[in-house]
Amino acid sequence: MDIAFDREHIWHPYTSTINPLPCYPIARADGVCLYLEDGTELIDGMSSWWAAIHGYNHPVLNKALIDQAGKMSHVMFGGITHEPAIALCKQLVDMTPAPLDKVFLCDSGSISVEVALKMALQYWHAKGEPKSKFLTLRHGYHGDSFAAMSVTDPDNSMHKLYKGFLPEHIFADSPECGFYDEWKEEDIADFKAKLTDNLSDIAAVILEPIVQGAGGMRIYHPTFLKRVRALCDEHGVLLICDEIATGFGRTGKLFACEHAGISPDILCVGKALTGGYMTMAATITTKHVADTVCSGEAGCFMHGPTFMGNPLASAVANASLQLLKDTPWQEKVLTIESHLASMLPPLESLNAVKGVRWLGAIGVVELNTPVHVESIQKHFVESGVWIRPFGRLIYIMPPFDMRKEQLQKLVDAIQRAVENMS
Ligand SMILES: *Cc1c(COP(=O)(O)O)cnc(C)c1O
Repeated sequence: MDIAFDREHIWHPYTSTINPLPCYPIARADGVCLYLEDGTELIDGMSSWWAAIHGYNHPVLNKALIDQAGKMSHVMFGGITHEPAIALCKQLVDMTPAPLDKVFLCDSGSISVEVALKMALQYWHAKGEPKSKFLTLRHGYHGDSFAAMSVTDPDNSMHKLYKGFLPEHIFADSPECGFYDEWKEEDIADFKAKLTDNLSDIAAVILEPIVQGAGGMRIYHPTFLKRVRALCDEHGVLLICDEIATGFGRTGKLFACEHAGISPDILCVGKALTGGYMTMAATITTKHVADTVCSGEAGCFMHGPTFMGNPLASAVANASLQLLKDTPWQEKVLTIESHLASMLPPLESLNAVKGVRWLGAIGVVELNTPVHVESIQKHFVESGVWIRPFGRLIYIMPPFDMRKEQLQKLVDAIQRAVENMS
């Protein structure tokens, strides 16, 4: 592989062109492993950023892709429909909590957030009470496009770089009570105050249910989410749940909002939707929200990407959801959870470790100081694992098929990395 060309000409996520960090050449991926060009096997702890829940090179997903490519790779969605999109949306309506039944297919997670925010704005416009603020939580992450970034944690996403262009929204303190802690009512106080103080401006609340991902890997108490739902209902505010990271089984429930027994007015899904094969996301809402949006001046929802409902992505997503239904995904995820529950706590005794947490197939080790990405990455590759930390967080969210000894290898590699830091 022409690594020199890559270094000279190709931008990777969040990288500098002046001093790019090394990139590892991956030639293929299979099951729960990535393979370097020289054949070295790396156990994958990242699922390619939450996406590859079934692992790589899966025969069922491969077949869906190849069969569909032989029929039609793409066709516009305006005025045209097709079987892969219909089959996929049937499954989405079926799987998601009850009142969600209008599906908008889109290109990526960030766009599904843009679409959700636009739906909320059009909803209030149609009701003749325009509102333009969103209430969200600190330490959240909703994507890298502008509207998504505007509701992402202001410090993590460097709002000051785009000041003057980026709309300013309202941030409530993120929950302090962890998933397994005892619930303390004061945890909701700041959210409640921010909501009631700004009620006339707030179009919707947007948050990641139960697990805040890239903004801090925080796993919070279900009662917080229950209180949010109740407050939104009490004050007539829409609730948008961003399940782009948590959706499709990752937390041990099909959707993380099920931990709190609530459902949102608008749901964003992405990442694992196609089992990690290609980019696709969806925004799903209720008949009430959809019909209100469409009763307004515009007479429709004002969005329609070129590659909306792409047949290849739809076919693979449909196969991935069917695969989820046909396999004991919950048993697999809960098995990973029980292993993490015994493997992670011993790391808490290490000096460099601030704390550990886990839920479903997500394990997090929070350090006292940020990692040195280049050297820790090298250590992980030399240890035969693929883990990509950011800041003070080393975290894993493996494919659901990971075996206990493979998971142990990931945790052992983390332990050695942290011991080297101490
Ligand atoms: C990854 C992510 C997004 C953005 O999705 P992209 O596909 O990267 O645009 C939005 N919200 C959450 C919670 C995510 O984890």
